[in-house]
Amino acid sequence: MGRTEELIREVDRWSAHNYHPLPVVVERGEGCWVWDVDGNRYLDMLSAYSAVNQGHRHPRIIAALREQAERLTLTSRAFHNDQMGAFLHQVCELIGYTKALPMNTGAEAVETAIKAVRKWGYTVKGVAPEAAEIVVCENNFHGRTTTIVGFSSEEQYRRGFGPFAPGFKLIPYGDIEALRAAVTQNTVGFLVEPLQGEGGVIVPPQGYLKEAAAICRDANAKLMADEIQTGLGRTGRLLCCYWEDVRPDVVMLGKALGGGVYPVSAALADDEVMDVFEPGDHGSTFGGNPLAAAVGRAALNVLVEEKLPERAAQLGDWLMGELEAIDSPHVEEVRGRGLMIGVVIKESSGTARPFCEALMDRGILAKETHHQVVRFAPPLVITKEILEEALVSIREVLQAPAPV
Ligand SMILES: *Cc1c(COP(=O)(O)O)cnc(C)c1O
Repeated sequence: MGRTEELIREVDRWSAHNYHPLPVVVERGEGCWVWDVDGNRYLDMLSAYSAVNQGHRHPRIIAALREQAERLTLTSRAFHNDQMGAFLHQVCELIGYTKALPMNTGAEAVETAIKAVRKWGYTVKGVAPEAAEIVVCENNFHGRTTTIVGFSSEEQYRRGFGPFAPGFKLIPYGDIEALRAAVTQNTVGFLVEPLQGEGGVIVPPQGYLKEAAAICRDANAKLMADEIQTGLGRTGRLLCCYWEDVRPDVVMLGKALGGGVYPVSAALADDEVMDVFEPGDHGSTFGGNPLAAAVGRAALNVLVEEKLPERAAQLGDWLMGELEAIDSPHVEEVRGRGLMIGVVIKESSGTARPFCEALMDRGILAKETHHQVVRFAPPLVITKEILEEALVSIREVLQAPAPV
């Protein structure tokens, strides 16, 4: 038995079977490349679902991690640490809000936003106790906690995990009239992905976010943008909402906020919302820890100084054009923004998974989402030359007979 099979067998034996990974075992990464245990090199076109926007092991982020690890890693919030303030200051100034609440995972940032907006609804807006409603979209992905999967429209995410928390109203994504009809005086927020990533790289109609912002303003409800995957440059803007010049009331960040080395997330808002939190209301043992803060600052510095949103815009535009130009019997549609691109496979050509496996055999790691979509989302530090090389293999796979 080869080492790859051995390692996969061990995982199969000892890990809960909550994932179905491609059969590759990675042992090293650098920039947009990873190497498996047999020394084969692959181009990473998933970027850990956009957590590796800055590339694997960016030297400046690793240096910050090392330096901080030599001094102090964790205090809990029972004491102050000398790193958290500067990190929150930086992320608030960069994204443009007055306060941030640091957590670790994306799901925790979403939970934080839900708690903030609900308590704002009760204490500021004056919603009757227990009556607050948050409007959410079908086909959403906001994480895996029980509250969050409770308002998923994906049957598998929910099946067997109820009962679920009430207070969420599900409407079709991209349908502005559905939002208008859904808001009531009890609506405290509209939780939305500015572009649905896990849902299959779905770009809403032009003007959707802008109109949603207006509806929220009129209804005295908060526009809550989940930018955990789309934010921090991925779609060619610092926030995906900037495509429509929209400033959400609450922003959730995660994934790339940790620079691909450490889980760092945050919810951001202005005082009107964030000041509802009092000591004891909410927290996390690891949230805002000094290691996370030092890594988060380095991750943001790299993003800004290397102009990664601009890179994503330019390379993404070009890559999308190249993908659209491929004359393939299997491709139904190419869609996305910046370097978050989905290639939709026709149902007559099977599902996306065998295409991902064929790409893997040619040294490209991409992952299917929602059965029919191959997602291309390489680290934003990638170059045009590397993408050109990748396109040779992508063309081969998309023009050959459908793999099975
Ligand atoms: C990944 C993701 C989350 C959840 O983040 P975790 O760190 O996995 O908890 C939430 N929202 C969106 C849009 C995501 O892509």
